[in-house]
Amino acid sequence: MGNLVAIVGRPNVGKSTLFNRLTQTRQAIVNEAAGTTRDRQYGKVEWLTKEFSLVDTGGWVVNSEDVFEEEINKQVKIAIEEADVILFVVDVMNGLTDLDQEVANILRRCRKPVLVVANKADNFEAHMNSAEFYALGLGDPICISAINGSCTGDLLDKILEVMPEDKPMALEEELPRIAVVGRPNAGKSSLVNAFIGEERNIVTDIAGTTRDSIYTKYNKFGLNFYLVDTAGIRKKGKVTEDLEYYSVIRSIRAIENSDVCILMLDATRGIESQDLNIFSLIQKNKKGLVVCVNKWDLIEDKSQKVINSYTTAIRERLAPFTDFPIIFISAMTKQRIFKVLETAKQVYENRHRRVSTAKLNETMLPIIENYPPPAWKGKYIKIKYVTQLPAGSIPSFVFFCNLPQWVKDPYKRFLENKIRDNWDFTGTPINIFIREK
Ligand code: GDP
Ligand code: GDP
Repeated sequence: MGNLVAIVGRPNVGKSTLFNRLTQTRQAIVNEAAGTTRDRQYGKVEWLTKEFSLVDTGGWVVNSEDVFEEEINKQVKIAIEEADVILFVVDVMNGLTDLDQEVANILRRCRKPVLVVANKADNFEAHMNSAEFYALGLGDPICISAINGSCTGDLLDKILEVMPEDKPMALEEELPRIAVVGRPNAGKSSLVNAFIGEERNIVTDIAGTTRDSIYTKYNKFGLNFYLVDTAGIRKKGKVTEDLEYYSVIRSIRAIENSDVCILMLDATRGIESQDLNIFSLIQKNKKGLVVCVNKWDLIEDKSQKVINSYTTAIRERLAPFTDFPIIFISAMTKQRIFKVLETAKQVYENRHRRVSTAKLNETMLPIIENYPPPAWKGKYIKIKYVTQLPAGSIPSFVFFCNLPQWVKDPYKRFLENKIRDNWDFTGTPINIFIREK
């Protein structure tokens, strides 16, 4: 269960610089999977023993100079709806502006914790200037310099201090939690409606179990799970959904609260940046994945050749993670929608798959022997033993080795692929660790 922190403020105050600074605290510790580009809108921050998600609400605006007041107001409102803590960034060099005041007017009325971040306080003199921001009526400004990093640790402490307590999940059973995500008009509501339909007797709404997310319990045809309703589905029509920003920020909570995500694509459109952004959220949160190509009823040529070309195109765009199911469906005609649920359940089971140490070594050691990690400066790198970690949210394998630091990413990917070849981990990310023996 994650916490979401949103950065708001007018253009050029340093929101994206702050976003990069705060998400880098984690980057230094965790190596992002090779090949994934870090987008500037969404990242994970680790501080002390906690972790939270960070969103830069300005990150979606293409040309920040052209932002209209109205646009900023909308962004602030959506941040208030979705976030647990709001960082309101102002610029001490520029001083207080009318637009700052306007944003503050909205923020003062919200019941979420708001921190005024007085950025560009690069030196002592600038610190002195920050006093004028008391006038915003949102408490003590916290002086930082996003560019040189000074006092960002204090800011992180403060964020954790005001962060609401994580409520424990009130769900009765350990059932798979499945979220349907995707860009606007992909057919998410249609699919969810097709699942739960008019058969009200089979579903129970559990409102407000964890803040805003709603779990709908589903049991039918021997399948049991929770559907995580996304705010985007429930609040449809309340705000314009055409901006990428809305659909992405609204997917965050649903993705974080799920085990397996059903990513809806529209067969009549190609994969666009918005699809990729939502996919990247699923990946960053290490969730299970089922890709659904929806509106298949609208495609005239449904030959195997066409199916193959879709499949190849999707896997290429989502590489390097390619081991996930793709299903061609129609939410409208309900074609194959049951298959979607079955597959999601299968992915959930794959996430919990345990391979015995004996089987792992029996299979993997001969493979490694035939294709060992490349020697480094004449030193042989020898992997002696492999085991799966007992706990963890996703399957994790540890390879014990004499010189772990010289086993590089391409070889780790080789190991991962061999594991995937031999056991069914379709749809779930897995971790490969190399440790010293
Ligand atoms: P955004 O539009 O709010 O996302 O602002 P940016 O992060 O793009 O920053 C706008 C400008 O302010 C850039 O030129 C940054 O280099 C600069 N900037 C950001 N943070 C600081 C800071 O702490 N000190 C100074 N002096 N400049 C900063
Ligand atoms: P959402 O924004 O992702 O929740 O998408 P909706 O479920 O509201 O669907 C958007 C539009 O696509 C609506 O007009 C639906 O009727 C239509 N639609 C959804 N699924 C299908 C489908 O499988 N086939 C066709 N032809 N239209 C669909």
